[in-house]
Amino acid sequence: MKKYEFWFIVGSQFLYGPEVLETVAARAAEMAAAIHANPDIPCSFIFKGVVKTPDEATAIIKDANRCNACAGVVTWTHTFSPSKMWIQAFGLLQKPLCHFATQYNEALPDSIDMNFMNLNQAAHGDREHGFILARMRKPQKIIVGFWKDPAVLQELGNWMRSAVGFAVSQDLRVIRFGDNMRNVAVTEGDKIEAQMQLGWQVNTWPVGELAQTIREIPDAEVDARMASYGNRYEFATTDLDAVRYQARMEIAIRRFLKRENAGAFSNTFEDLCGMRQLPGLATQAIMQDGFGFGAEGDWKTAALLRVIKQMTAGLDKGSSFMEDYTYHLVPGQEAVLGAHMLEVCPSIAASKPRIEVHPLGIGGKEPPARLVFNARPGSATASTLVDMGGRFRLICQDIDVIPPISPMPNLPVARMMWKLQPDLKTAVKLWILAGGAHHSVVSFDATPVMLADWARIAGIEFVHITADTNPEQFEQQLFLQDAIWQLRSIR
Ligand code: MN
Repeated sequence: MKKYEFWFIVGSQFLYGPEVLETVAARAAEMAAAIHANPDIPCSFIFKGVVKTPDEATAIIKDANRCNACAGVVTWTHTFSPSKMWIQAFGLLQKPLCHFATQYNEALPDSIDMNFMNLNQAAHGDREHGFILARMRKPQKIIVGFWKDPAVLQELGNWMRSAVGFAVSQDLRVIRFGDNMRNVAVTEGDKIEAQMQLGWQVNTWPVGELAQTIREIPDAEVDARMASYGNRYEFATTDLDAVRYQARMEIAIRRFLKRENAGAFSNTFEDLCGMRQLPGLATQAIMQDGFGFGAEGDWKTAALLRVIKQMTAGLDKGSSFMEDYTYHLVPGQEAVLGAHMLEVCPSIAASKPRIEVHPLGIGGKEPPARLVFNARPGSATASTLVDMGGRFRLICQDIDVIPPISPMPNLPVARMMWKLQPDLKTAVKLWILAGGAHHSVVSFDATPVMLADWARIAGIEFVHITADTNPEQFEQQLFLQDAIWQLRSIR
């Protein structure tokens, strides 16, 4: 994460003389160094200068746009910075922007005089700075508070993660092996719109070419992969041939990902031409290493999983592809059982995953090896990205993952049970009302604010189902947002 830079740019002016400007620069450098070193700040935080004129503002923003490592700009006005001098700069800005409304001193000194007040007038400058961003309709993250406050630094660190998600998005390539599952609607979507809005390059590669690559993998590589499985997982099968075939598929898929510099892939059980098994263990092991995946051709969820895994890099509770499968509707115990045919990411496993081999009811292929485990309990988010026609909508839901209500010994797949907020009936109703898919990304690391910030930066619609969601207001919100987003989608 430290390879991503955030540029700290401080606004000021010449009104108070050179000494004040020297003090501002020295303090800004001190603050940037301390923020950079804070463990809650995942990326590099670099002081880039005090801006006093329109030309300086424009030049520094052009530099930020050109700098590949720069994933965002953080502005602050220590003194008063007249904001007409920022208009050209903000007009050109292509990086995520955070307006950090902070102040060098935490407490007002008893000795306060006009000199102190002229030097320390962030409260004044922040309003001028904020107005021009509002006037220009520039999306901005506003963080208010003292720069040493741990909660403020946490907020800044989390926003950086959202901005990194945007940077990852801009470069993301998704490999599709086969098309979407026949007749399924929610996994479809406009790939051109996705590339225009989110940067995602979604392209297809022949399943036959993958099958050929699988056949060509040398046995020695398969042996090495089997050894790594022994370290990571528990063997609970004697059908080593089935496991070896998954290892072979994993190596082949990784070759494609590397060759195409791709961060995510999708496949479908309806197109496994030339392959002996549906990739299960293979896909799970690849996901565990930070790649995105979507089943049944679901490239949107594949890409979203990649973005979420990258934005939460270094946090260690895990994120996975997930599918709503079955309800437990006993009053007072209401919960959802999520799983997939095979492909749940072991990063969310509560204990060491077991490699098992079982027949698959659909697809007409050999019994595939897969990892079986329970997901860890805890609070998490479930997110789904749907194409509303002309725009994407990200729907996020707060969930509480619980231990499965029984051992379920006959269920041969990884599973996760969760409770919904404010309650199952309301949350499921609103998810369905918003058009949420059966596929989602479950993350124990990505917070709703992180996802909302990412959506704001990317310029897509965001809706959030929480413990406080009022169904009538939520329905009204969807209705109004739909009208507004349809207007915005006219180009
Ligand atoms: Mn599915």
